[in-house]
Amino acid sequence: MAATIYYDSDADLSHLKDVTIAILGYGSQGHAQAQNLRDSGCNVIIGQRPGSANYDLAVSHKFEPMSVEEAVKQADVINILLPDEVQGDVYRNQILPNLSDGNVLMCSHGFNIHFGQVEPPSGVDTLLVAPKGPGHLVRSEYEKGGGVPCLIALGDGASEKTRQIGLAYAKAIGGTRGGVIETTIAEETETDLFGEQVVLCGGVSELVKAAFETLVEAGYQPEMAYFECMHELKLIVDLFYEGGLSYMRYSVSNTAEYGDYVTGPRIITAETKQVMKQVLEEIQSGKFARDWILENRAGAASFKATRRRNRDHEIETVGRRLRKLMSWIDDKEV
Ligand code: NDP
Ligand code: MG
Repeated sequence: MAATIYYDSDADLSHLKDVTIAILGYGSQGHAQAQNLRDSGCNVIIGQRPGSANYDLAVSHKFEPMSVEEAVKQADVINILLPDEVQGDVYRNQILPNLSDGNVLMCSHGFNIHFGQVEPPSGVDTLLVAPKGPGHLVRSEYEKGGGVPCLIALGDGASEKTRQIGLAYAKAIGGTRGGVIETTIAEETETDLFGEQVVLCGGVSELVKAAFETLVEAGYQPEMAYFECMHELKLIVDLFYEGGLSYMRYSVSNTAEYGDYVTGPRIITAETKQVMKQVLEEIQSGKFARDWILENRAGAASFKATRRRNRDHEIETVGRRLRKLMSWIDDKEV
């Protein structure tokens, strides 16, 4: 069955007329969605704790940020754009006590609603509008007259009016210019987690790292290994993005294409696919969510240690040095 996709003409901004939208958090998604909404004529307020760069950023964008509690009290539509791992606590302590009947509670990722960390009281609908791209693109594409495609999903029992609000919201942030796909909160949450773990973040990083280590351990120069296994990846992914796998294969040499066919299936094997299935089951059963919530309760000790260890890997130190020598690359340091 083909997906339902909405475009500009399917959405009516008048559903947000006389509606106050609170954006909670002025981070990656918050700063982008808030500004796009305002530029589309919506009434936007910001809930952002003081004392951080994001607070100052909101002020520099001519918003008057207030506490989460105050923003929830004043708003009709509340979008929680805080890190997923803090949403449960902030929801229970600062949002829930200030919700009123008829409010619409929004998110850009279904993790907390799907896994029961954000449970709306009766009379409050939940709604997901999730841009399929990072915040800075949500803003820059909108400014160029385009938009990042979005997903829309209604929470259990949400009304048709809430769907109209969601489509209007998606239009106001530029999403209906790119297309807004109808999904469910379960589907969005599970496929998002699966994609980032298996391919986008986990799978690709480990593939690159293992290949880099293999070359370096065999005595090749780390700089060569970096260019082969990391730097060139972008060129290949750009071809995927423009024309799929076939376009990449058309563009590379016949030797590279032959190597792709004979070696690819030896790297990603039937066993790898078995593990993918297991990962999916752990996402569906809530095991992954529970582990991540518990890790945060424990102060994220193992998460922080792993982050530190990965930052010191040789592929990172070599890469930092090489990127400095390529002046056209906008080198980012964390
Ligand atoms: P960020 O980490 O960029 O921003 C988080 C914001 O929340 C900041 O303003 C931060 O303020 C505030 N904040 C953090 N901790 C607390 C706390 N304990 N109490 C109050 N405020 C807090 O988040 P993202 O924009 O990346 O993510 C927001 C949501 O959007 C998530 O659900 C995410 O899954 C979803 N999403 C993100 C995408 C992305 O590309 N980033 C893409 C699609 C969806 P301070 O500066 O004070 O810490
Ligand atoms: Mg994602």
